[in-house]
Amino acid sequence: MKQLRNTVIRAGLEALYFSGAHVLLRPIFSGVGAIFMLHHVRPQRDGAFQPNRHLEITPDFLRAMLAHLHARGIDIVTMDEVHQRLIERNFKRRFACFTLDDGYRDNRDHALPVMREYDAPFTVYVASDFAAGSGKLWWIALEMAVARADAIDVTMGGVATRLDTSTAQARQTTFDRLHDWLRTLSEHDLQREITSLCERHGVDQAAICRDRCMSWEELKAFSADPLVTIGAHSITHCNLAQQSETTAREELTLSRARIEDALQRPTIHLAYPYGDKPAAGPREFALARASGYKTAVTTRPGMVFPESAGHMTALPRVSLNGNYQDARILPVLTSGAATAMWNGFRRVDAA
Ligand SMILES: [Zn+2]
Repeated sequence: MKQLRNTVIRAGLEALYFSGAHVLLRPIFSGVGAIFMLHHVRPQRDGAFQPNRHLEITPDFLRAMLAHLHARGIDIVTMDEVHQRLIERNFKRRFACFTLDDGYRDNRDHALPVMREYDAPFTVYVASDFAAGSGKLWWIALEMAVARADAIDVTMGGVATRLDTSTAQARQTTFDRLHDWLRTLSEHDLQREITSLCERHGVDQAAICRDRCMSWEELKAFSADPLVTIGAHSITHCNLAQQSETTAREELTLSRARIEDALQRPTIHLAYPYGDKPAAGPREFALARASGYKTAVTTRPGMVFPESAGHMTALPRVSLNGNYQDARILPVLTSGAATAMWNGFRRVDAA
């Protein structure tokens, strides 16, 4: 199913490119700027089973995007500057903003050197448990469990099921099925299922966080770079919309306090974990505002429009997706045609 979806998206991106429709749509859908969303930046790895590949792009693809923007005279700005331009309605020049979620060490090792080549600032959103080394990156734990398993036995919706992991294709199908199911569970049930999967298939869940995420000490040095802004990404990386209002508020205020305490820098920008509609809606947008965040970004696809000024804690982003790292789609992404197609041709999506 996910494979089909990827194929349809790729066909859509290519159709937009080859038809030239993105050029025609640009004046209507390009907005005043774009906030790009990235996760991992690192060289491509071998291996057929990479179900989280959409969450990583190569340094070369990042460089190609920066070159594309640079050649078009698009300003690369901080989240502070996005906020400022929206408030002042300063749209003389188009802007692009780079944001990276979760706080992976490869952001320092592979993204920062490329961003430096273009003197391009960027924001890294840190989940405070990830920085503390106690975070649970369950989607990676799931990938590792499926990669190691001969088969996976699981009880989904009360039905005992055996899932095939004998080929790369089967592993992908099993991963997709488990991933989609896990995202429907409460945080507590999700962690219980993942812990059990990790135990049964020899995955050290605690090591994943420490292996991949920057510690507070590393973040302190990283955040001293003038190109780097650190934003918040909750404490535990939970689905905020599933939490009680008290817990959701704590996730927003305490994560902010922990980052400010550790890094001694004001933290006024937020990215919602998952960031899609089931994880961040009007209640979360209001909580983010009330918690003192100047901006908050979602993963809802879209460009920034002048109207976005009225929805500063519900900003859309454009995903730089590892499944579509083709230089031809860069003008499609910056035209707004792709995100317009995906979000139903809305300029603001904040409900
Ligand atoms: Zn995240």
